[in-house]
Amino acid sequence: MASTPMTRREALLIDGEHIAAAEGRTFETHNPATGAVLADVALASAEDVNRAVAAARRAFDSGPWPRMKAVERGRMLRRVADLIRERLDSLAELETGNSGKAIADARDEVGGAANTFEYYAGAADKVFGETIPMGASALDYTAREPVGVVGLIVPWNFPIVIAAWKMAPALAAGCTVILKPASLTPLTALALGDICHEAGIPAGVVNVLTGDGATAGMLLASHRAVDKVAFTGSTEVGRAIMRAASDNITRVSLELGGKSPCVVFADADIEYAASRIPYSVFANAGQDCCARTRIFVQRSALDQFTQLFVEATQRIRVGDPMAAETEIGSMVSPGQKQRSLDYLAIGRDEGAQVLTGGEPPSTMALDEGSFLLPAVLSGVSNSMRVAQEEIFGPVASIIPFDDEDDVVRQVNDSPYGLSGSVWARDIGRALRTASRIRTGVISVNSNSSVHVQAPFGGYKQSGIGRELGMHALSLYTEVKNVYVDLSEH
Ligand code: NAD
Repeated sequence: MASTPMTRREALLIDGEHIAAAEGRTFETHNPATGAVLADVALASAEDVNRAVAAARRAFDSGPWPRMKAVERGRMLRRVADLIRERLDSLAELETGNSGKAIADARDEVGGAANTFEYYAGAADKVFGETIPMGASALDYTAREPVGVVGLIVPWNFPIVIAAWKMAPALAAGCTVILKPASLTPLTALALGDICHEAGIPAGVVNVLTGDGATAGMLLASHRAVDKVAFTGSTEVGRAIMRAASDNITRVSLELGGKSPCVVFADADIEYAASRIPYSVFANAGQDCCARTRIFVQRSALDQFTQLFVEATQRIRVGDPMAAETEIGSMVSPGQKQRSLDYLAIGRDEGAQVLTGGEPPSTMALDEGSFLLPAVLSGVSNSMRVAQEEIFGPVASIIPFDDEDDVVRQVNDSPYGLSGSVWARDIGRALRTASRIRTGVISVNSNSSVHVQAPFGGYKQSGIGRELGMHALSLYTEVKNVYVDLSEH
């Protein structure tokens, strides 16, 4: 069990056993802040995917998990939550070591994973159907049945918490799962698999397949014996997964990319908004699907907001991910850092000015890591590439607007529709604007977009389906209708 940081692992978790990949291949996983190798991890091949799917299939078709009382499944999920909390320190260190994120964020996210299991522990026995009036001679009722074997494919930006968002409701519903973590960050997924078994979840119900997305991920999405794929990641890979799933009409839910807006009306508390909004873009080094990377500011407040926003951005503490005071650690890889640098160059070419950031911090010896000071662009229009394409790094664009109609038009001129914020004191205007913005999630006078009790997901190319809250249970259940003839023959 990976309860300490720097644990070296090789194994896949299939049918309750730690086993080497069938072809014996492994890949290295790193600490992106130092470049150090953390572990050699099993690289799953097609044979391993087949083994994991077969184990999950057996556990679903003939094992106890979907058949036991829902309240018993809930008790085991509650035990998972307790074990995560008991190991919060070591899991957070493992997550920070593997992803480069600030330890304070990692602790919040591990806590969030525990909260998610706790929530669905309570939800497990509250998934039920309805009776439909058909007159005295018939009974018609529905049942919510588990969808079956589910492939869970997750990204590297919030590894343990996004795994929990998918595993906990799937398990609560009675499904069996195969978790495929991102190859950059496999370690906490493996630890979570071990915790599930320690909590008493039977063998084969939770399997963890580490490996390459194009092989292990794609094979899961196209496998005949997988009933559903739940994916979080880029829109591009989401499209490939939908295509792969279409052959078998495999159910698909997708949480994809974003280019979320922040709308700041001139009547907002500008000082407060400018001090908070930097965290809505730059937290997790901007590697956040909800990052409010397009900051629309009403023209009359533009100068004041921009100055305060730049000052607040410059106060953000970028540094050693393991230091308690650090707010932004390393990006996940040199490639991810380079992507942000490339977009900054594209922005400059398009005519934007970099007001601050966009280079490594000069005060620290962080040569090995992928550190980048948060960058603020002005002179941006919504049609520029930096305002239309997901950068997935610490780059914010400030865009002026005139009035409500103008900002709604600009905000909605995007292929994405995940999240966003509206800042205003006039609550009528804030709520009108919130209802006109085409995103699945919106917050008013706040950066906060994720709550375990409330649905989360995207419009347009940001995804299909809603995670979290009771809504997530519909992703992992089928509705069965039963009609009973009560008439006397
Ligand atoms: P990614 O799409 O490259 O990879 C995500 C997962 O898919 C990984 O496990 C990867 O191994 C796997 N994968 C890669 N290619 C695959 C293929 N061809 N078939 C099947 N699986 C494949 O994304 P990423 O770089 O890990 O994460 C960043 C992206 O995720 C961003 O676009 C971000 O916006 C998005 N994201 C969205 C949400 C959300 O809830 N909407 C949350 C977090 C991240």
